[in-house]
Amino acid sequence: MMSKIFFLTILWITKLNIWMIRLFKLGHASNLPGKIALMLNKNFIRFFSFISNKKIILVTGTNGKSTTCGLAAVFLKTSGKTVLYNETGANLRTGIASTFAKNSNLLGRLNKEYILLEIDEATLPLITKDLAPDLIVITNLFRDQLDRFGELDTTLKLIETGINNCNTTVLLNADDPRVAFIKTKNKKYFFGFSEDCVQGNPYLNQGYPYLNQGYPQNGMTWLLDPEEATECPNCNSSLTISNKVIAHLGSYKCNKCRLKKPVLDFEITSFQADNLSTNCDVKYNNQKHNFFLPFIGTFNLYNTLCAIAISNLTANVTDVQIQKGLQLYSTIFGRFEKLSLGNKKAWIYLIKNPTGTTEVLKTLSNLENARFLIALNDNLADGRDVSWIWDARFDFLKGHNKNIFVSGKRAYDMALRLKYADIEPSKIVVDENITSAIKEAISNISKSETLYILPTYTVLLEMQRKGISKN
Ligand SMILES: [Zn+2]
Repeated sequence: MMSKIFFLTILWITKLNIWMIRLFKLGHASNLPGKIALMLNKNFIRFFSFISNKKIILVTGTNGKSTTCGLAAVFLKTSGKTVLYNETGANLRTGIASTFAKNSNLLGRLNKEYILLEIDEATLPLITKDLAPDLIVITNLFRDQLDRFGELDTTLKLIETGINNCNTTVLLNADDPRVAFIKTKNKKYFFGFSEDCVQGNPYLNQGYPYLNQGYPQNGMTWLLDPEEATECPNCNSSLTISNKVIAHLGSYKCNKCRLKKPVLDFEITSFQADNLSTNCDVKYNNQKHNFFLPFIGTFNLYNTLCAIAISNLTANVTDVQIQKGLQLYSTIFGRFEKLSLGNKKAWIYLIKNPTGTTEVLKTLSNLENARFLIALNDNLADGRDVSWIWDARFDFLKGHNKNIFVSGKRAYDMALRLKYADIEPSKIVVDENITSAIKEAISNISKSETLYILPTYTVLLEMQRKGISKN
């Protein structure tokens, strides 16, 4: 065991490292100081002490971790709680170690009532040995960065191990069969879309005008979302999926063993959306609640529902406080961030996997006066294998008719992908340098247009280093 004085020595070194990195403007100090601390002692995280009435919440899954944590953090804050969360999105053990070192006092004490952490799926089994969480949340499971995790089943096993390291309550996405039927005896709560809400809902079919006309036919299979979990988690025969929300998320049942979607504790019962906002009804604790969301996107409905569930399971949060939180919530680390560049408008939407990217494209390609810059890197944090872009539906940009800007280390792969989505090659403008690509794109758009910048993770980091992105 590490003695207190040894822990404090490492803590002070770590704090000094953070201070130096900030002083010399070398970055956010969100990973490196923690990495050094864990090299000096691998149990570093266990030695932090908390105020006695604290709650620890861990959020994992493929999509929506950051937005969910960001929303849950504002809901808790508007209800008067003090919250620590890893808002830079540093979700490995190195990031958690850095976050704790940054936010603790000189004696390693964290004086916050809530510790809310977004956790990388593969890190969960390690972190549940370091900390004793009060709630573990799984947003969904999609194919993501395969080269790092291997198959989805491996990811699932890691999460199961992580959950079963403790007898913590879990909050699960009921619409995702792999997640809903995760193997654990722990107390479970479920969130998802009610069947009534999905049935015939025009907003869930925005990108599918052709499906009603007997499509998809040859060459139009891109209109179908990739279904990634269609096997029964109990008996492995195939599941019948109905009322799909996104990809494989929806209602389902197994004809062989009769497994079906669990009863929902937190459910979206209806919603309407326009180009900028969403109005939705949510049911929990046997009551209906209505919220106005100043943003759009089906994934964000899941994120909001999940964040409402988190704050309800761990605190007394009123509807008024949630609504205030929704208004306050601006952006989490560029997941969607508004920029002002001269007198032109730009938004950043992070892209990282096929389903998330398809949702972003589905939403944005419907907007009038939208212009696009897509930037693809293949560094470790982006996933080294860029073949995922072939599963994302860039085909939604097909009718775009204006120049599309492409950047990043793998700009030429991206350009090729767009070409195969039937985008006129003369309309694809390639510049591997992100700074000059943004400059060029901004000078090319008119004042009435909005530039949507879709970067992968390390392009976004580069934009932050260069001061283009503020968060
Ligand atoms: Zn079955």
